[in-house]
Amino acid sequence: MSAETEIRNVIVVGSGPAGYTAALYTARASLKPLVFEGAVTAGGALVQTTEVENFPGFRDGIMGPDLMENMRAQAERFGAELVPDDIVEVDLTGPVKTVTDSAGTVHRARAVIVATGSQHRKLDLPGEDALSGRGVSYCATCDGFFFRDHHIVVVGGGDTAMEEATFLSRFAASVTVVHRRDALRASQAMQDRAFADPKISFTWNSEVAEIHEAGGKLAGLTLRDTVTGETSHLPATGLFVAIGHDPRTDLVAGQLDLDGDGYLKVASPSTRTNVPGVFGAGDVVDHTYRQAITAAGSGCAAALDAERYLAALD
Ligand code: FAD
Repeated sequence: MSAETEIRNVIVVGSGPAGYTAALYTARASLKPLVFEGAVTAGGALVQTTEVENFPGFRDGIMGPDLMENMRAQAERFGAELVPDDIVEVDLTGPVKTVTDSAGTVHRARAVIVATGSQHRKLDLPGEDALSGRGVSYCATCDGFFFRDHHIVVVGGGDTAMEEATFLSRFAASVTVVHRRDALRASQAMQDRAFADPKISFTWNSEVAEIHEAGGKLAGLTLRDTVTGETSHLPATGLFVAIGHDPRTDLVAGQLDLDGDGYLKVASPSTRTNVPGVFGAGDVVDHTYRQAITAAGSGCAAALDAERYLAALD
């Protein structure tokens, strides 16, 4: 058993826009937050992307890694203690909560903010990671603007895929929805909107078998018919993968209430979970918006909720 650590006011688990914003606000409130950033994924999802054009305050856009480095440095400037390590275990039940790092050290705090984000599902095909940000995307709201007049493929058959397809049709020359079945899972209203859009067409019973690159950019796809196994070539310069997200809630499952899709439940519009002193922020809570600015906003709300919770204890 490791030596007892001091009881902190607040521990933040996560280092995306939600975690760093929570760190900034709790640091400025003199709560001296201890922030676990993750060992290999510090900085969160935006570290994987290139230009971010929709985070307010950056008129000419900013590269994702630079934005996250700025957020990190801003939190650190006010005294947030940042640790590039994973939390592997938590006990959130009592008035003093514990989180255990990868070396087995147990850290204690009266409040915990969970901001572990979510992971978009990938196709897991060769070339997919290399072309992410170079034709392959997982977020139409984030990247649609870069695809004006492109021929775009959207993979998926649920509400998100239909929403992405109808949003992208504003910019694209054409949108082809590739779906592995012969019917959509999306709600009827979303289907009707997509079917009525003259720029959107559907390729049924098909999956992406190969991703092709030319000059460092996406050049086309090989599709495979899920019934016959036949393959065909589809030229495309944009590929939006919309097959779902997995919230990172394994750490807290069994201790905090999750919804049917595994997202952390909070008492909206607050960030309170079902356990007093534990707050949730960012994409780990959010099915709907999944943007850097909304994650940062809820990180701010979680910090203020934690501050008020701690003030009421004193
Ligand atoms: P994340 O950014 O996912 O950060 C969570 C982080 O917490 C993890 O990465 C990890 O470092 C840490 N963590 C997780 N588990 C643990 C643990 N057990 N212990 C310690 N640390 C842990 N949004 C926009 O607004 N504009 C864009 O242009 C844009 N482009 C995008 C491009 C790509 C390729 C992707 C993937 C997303 C993009 N988004 C964009 C969406 C945006 O990145 C997310 O909405 C946002 O990052 C969510 O913030 P978050 O803080 O909730 O979580």
